[in-house]
This record gives sequence, C-alpha cells and structure tokens, in this order.
Amino acid sequence: MKKNLILLFIIMTFIFVGCEAKNNQKESISDIINSSETEVTKERVVNIYTDRHYDTDQTLYNTFTAETGIIVNVVKAKSDELLERLKIEGENTEADLIITSDVGRLYRAKTEELTKQFTSDAILNNVPENLRSSENFWTALTVRARVITYVKGNTDPALLSTYEALTSPEWKDKVVIRSSSNIYNQSLMASFIEVNGEDAAKEWAAGIVNNMAREPEGNDRDQMKAIVGGLGEVAVVNTYYIGKLLNSSDAYEVEVGEQIGVFFPNQETTGTHINISGAALTRHGQNTDEATKLIEFLTGEKAQSDYANANYEYPVNPKVQPSNLLQSWGEFKTQKIDLSKLGEFNSQAVKIMNEAGWK
Ligand code: FE
Repeated sequence: MKKNLILLFIIMTFIFVGCEAKNNQKESISDIINSSETEVTKERVVNIYTDRHYDTDQTLYNTFTAETGIIVNVVKAKSDELLERLKIEGENTEADLIITSDVGRLYRAKTEELTKQFTSDAILNNVPENLRSSENFWTALTVRARVITYVKGNTDPALLSTYEALTSPEWKDKVVIRSSSNIYNQSLMASFIEVNGEDAAKEWAAGIVNNMAREPEGNDRDQMKAIVGGLGEVAVVNTYYIGKLLNSSDAYEVEVGEQIGVFFPNQETTGTHINISGAALTRHGQNTDEATKLIEFLTGEKAQSDYANANYEYPVNPKVQPSNLLQSWGEFKTQKIDLSKLGEFNSQAVKIMNEAGWK
C-alpha cells in the first residue's frame, strides 16, 4: 500500500512537470511567433525574375543579403516566359526586378511597358553610358562577346578576319554555329542589320547557311566540341563558354577548352559583336528601393569582379579588370551601336534567318 502511494506520487509529479514544460513550450512558441511577426513587418525583400542560369548569381545574392539584410527571392525561367508572366500578373506581380541574359528581351520589356526607370547615381557611376538604356530603363550587368573560335595548331588565325568573310568559299562546310532560335544569334544578326543594312544581313545569313559544316544543333559548348572533334573548323560562340569549358568538372570539356583559340572578328572594320545580360525594375514592383540597391550592388566593384572571375564575363564597371583568362585573349574593339537596336531588329533578324533556311 505504501509502495503504491509512493508510485502514485511519482506519477503525479511527472504529469505536473510535464504540464509545466508544455506550458513553457507554449509560451516560448508564442514568443517566437510574436517576435517573427514584428520581424515580418520589418523584413525587406527583393523578388527577381531571371533567366540567368549560373551559380555565381545565387552566391552574389547571398552576399547581398548578408551585407544589407534584404532577402532575395528568385524565380528562374526562360526570358520569354518571364515577360509573359509579368504581362499576365500586371499590377499584382510580386517581381521587382527582371534579369535577362540578352538585351533584346530587356528592350521588349521596356516597349511593352513592363519596366520603369531607375534613379540612382551609383548605377550611373558604375555603368558606362553605352551599356545602359538612354532613359535608364535597363542597365547591363555583364558583357559577353560573340567571337570566332578555332582549334589551335589546326587553323591559322591569320586566315580569319571578319564575320562577313566566313561566307566566302574557303570556309565552305567549315562553319559551325547553333540554331537561329537562339537569342545570341538573333542579336548577332540584328547587329548586322544595324551595322550593314538589311540586304547585307540577308546575304550573310544565306552565306553562313551555305558554309555550315552541319545543320545547327546543341549549345555554344557543343560547337567547340564539334570543331575539336574534326567537324568543321570554326565555331561562333560567346566568350564565357570558353572559360566554362576550361573550368569544367568534366575532363573532356577541359581538354576541348585547352585546344580552343579565340579570335575577335572585325577589328579593322565594324568591331566584334557584344551583347549584355542586364537588369530592369519592373513597372509594378513594390520593393523599388531594395531592387535599386541590388542593381547598385551587382554593378559595384565586388560583384563585378565575381562575375568576371567566376562566370568569365566582361565587367561593365570600368574600375574592374576582366579575369586573367579574358585578359590573355587581349583587348578588342566592339561594335559601336546602340544596344537597344538588338531588340528593335529582333523579329526582322529572325525572319531573315528563317528565309535563309537557318534551322
Ligand atoms: Fe549563355
């Protein structure tokens, strides 16, 4: 009997302690909720729609959050889908910033009234005039050049000169380039419409199709793999993909990258074609200050050197040097055109390539 009483006492003690603990838990959880509620009202965010698909970007957003406390939310999709989504969402969009890897899409976002002007002296100081929209509707974050590559020791670069010369009979069945559905080629073609006129652009498209080593397939890296594999002799690609090959985790890609020579075309004439990836504030975004801060950060010296070193892109900020690899290719003259023209002539460029039978 005594034993039973002691046992009952022990059990009651446990129940009591358990209840107390639960109550304490309740209190502490409601404390947490209360404190996070006050934090939610203070929390600063910026929501990005982006079509850039590089790891460097997320690392930069993390650094931005660590420095400013502003949370960065990212939605990744193809740029056309993102523009469509912005249009459908209208005033209800959560997106504050749109980032695309081609100026053509930024131009379209502007003409479709999906963006608004930024006001920031820091951005104006970070980015030269030719790399942002004249009315500050978008700014470049990085620059990439579309160059001619060849296999070192196989092709004498002295034979190379201009994009136009790739249409001559000596390059018959030797040119590899990706499909006309690719925005980088559409912008390249758009630049020729601006620089040389529509007729010359048509001639170029027909000449390239005539000299193709194969029907277009694969991405820029695949074009370089093709010439190293003996299919064709010259490949037209964006510069950063050479950096990506050389720094790939795939040993074969490194081997391909090491054999690639880089040639900047049109140095004696109209300059090498460049394109940008860039950012614009969305028209209906609510977190404009935070989004502007992020553009300031991304065009600032630290982020610019990360883009340059980790993603092998050319910095837009003149205070930042390109990476050693990019410097090893030397300086080059770029096309001197208003980059908005790449967007303005996009549909005309697509039409020309289709008519030329560029798959
Ligand atoms: Fe790319």
